[in-house]
Formats: sequence, C-alpha cells, structure tokens
Amino acid sequence: MASVETSNRDLSELARVAQIACKLLFQECYKANIRDIFLTETYRSQERQNYLYAQGRTRPGQIVTWTKSSNHKARLAWDIAVAPPKPLYDVETLSKVGAIAKKLNITWGGTWTNNMDRPHFEVKSDWVMPKGYQLEGEVVVPTSSNERVQLIQEEGLTLSQYEELKSEIEALKNELSAKASLRSNNAVAPPHKEDYEWAKESGLTDGSYPAGALTRQQLFTVLKRYHDTFIQNNGTVSESHKEAWETLLQLGITDGSNPRALATREQVGTMINRVIDLE
Ligand SMILES: [Zn+2]
Repeated sequence: MASVETSNRDLSELARVAQIACKLLFQECYKANIRDIFLTETYRSQERQNYLYAQGRTRPGQIVTWTKSSNHKARLAWDIAVAPPKPLYDVETLSKVGAIAKKLNITWGGTWTNNMDRPHFEVKSDWVMPKGYQLEGEVVVPTSSNERVQLIQEEGLTLSQYEELKSEIEALKNELSAKASLRSNNAVAPPHKEDYEWAKESGLTDGSYPAGALTRQQLFTVLKRYHDTFIQNNGTVSESHKEAWETLLQLGITDGSNPRALATREQVGTMINRVIDLE
C-alpha cells in the first residue's frame, strides 16, 4: 500500500469507467500527436487527500489542493504532466489535452474558474463513450516522463481468426437464407397459380408463404390433409348420390363405410361381383 506521501499512478486503481475514459483521452492525444504526457496520480486515499490538504496550511509548502473531498478519492479523476524538455505543467500542451477532453465529455480542471487545476481530469460515474469513438487498440498510458503514449493496433486477423470469422459469416448467411426462403411471401408464379388455388380451396394449405420452402414436417401435414380429403374421406354421402348409395346398401353391394373415399380396382371388382351374384 502506497504511503500518504507518494502518489498512486496505477490506472487500474480507477473505476472502470474512468479507466476507459482515461485510455480514450490518451488515445485521442496520441492521434493528435501529443505523446509526451504521462499519468502522475490516479486513486487517492482520504488519508493522502488530508495529507495534501494540510500542505501550505498546517504543514509547510505551497498549497496543492483546495478540497478534502476530491474525485480522485471516488476513483473518477486522474492527473497528468508533460515530459521534458517541456515544463512539467506546460500550459500549451495541457490546454490541447483539455480541448480533446472536452470533445470526449471528460471534465478538465483547466476550465474551472475557481481553483483552476490544469493537470486534472475527471468523469462522472455515468460517463459513456461519445458516439463515433472507440478504443482502437491497446493504449499505453505512460506513468513516467521517459515513456511515450502509444497505440498498439493489430496488423490484421490471424489465419485462425479469419477462418473462424469466415465460418461464422457462412453460418449466418445460411441461417438467413433459410429463413428468407421458408417465409417468402412472394407472389405465386403463374405456372402454379391454378394449383395453388386448388390446394387452398381443398384445404391442403392456408395459402401463407406461397413462394416459401416446404419443410419435411409441413409436407407430412399436407399429405395427411390430402389423404383425409381425397383418399379416406369419412364424410357423409352427398345429396346427388344418396339414393344410389341407399340402394347399394340394401343390396349389400357395399358396407357403407368411407362413402366419399376413393375405391381401388379390387374394391370395384368385389362390388361388381356382388352385383353379378345378385342375378
Ligand atoms: Zn487531480
């Protein structure tokens, strides 16, 4: 644990949101060619804040802070400085960083009218990355004046990453096209129009997704409906055949089952034979 006399420069001691904001700030500085800045302090314990507050008040030295309650304590603030040969708190550099911070919704202490604090940056706990920005690689945030800000970007995908991505895309493509063809609501093509109407009237289909693909299970349902409608229809005898049917029943030509089902040749043969036997 750091003593109250030394500053903590560990970025990972900040809240996650502040870590991201700080990295984004350093990244954007890097891209703006400001690479000679470094972190001087991140998280500050209450004990250290009290210690700093005492400086210039109850302890000798220059006043360095105006508050006992800082956002460093809340893990939402960080301080930076500028590497030699520039002055440690080079106003021109810090102002440029401040201007970048403003675009990123990061508060710069340099804008404070009371107790201006140019090396200081902070975010609210609900800070979010502004639209159009992202961390574009590994951002190296220096913690000493002899390091430089760096943005390490991967050159490209490794072969296995590429293969993995390719197969993922392929799978998605297949899934999409499967969905698209199953649920195609395109109009019925002219050569199928009559059949489509017939199938709808016969109750084989409800007519939805006319140009969609048929799954095996849907085919089974259509076949079953066809069977129940045309092959083994147990419905009642239609009016125009009622009299003839009654006669056949009385004469014992048929047992009266499945009146609206199709008859096989052998069944027809049996019925003809029964007629012959009558005479
Ligand atoms: Zn500060």
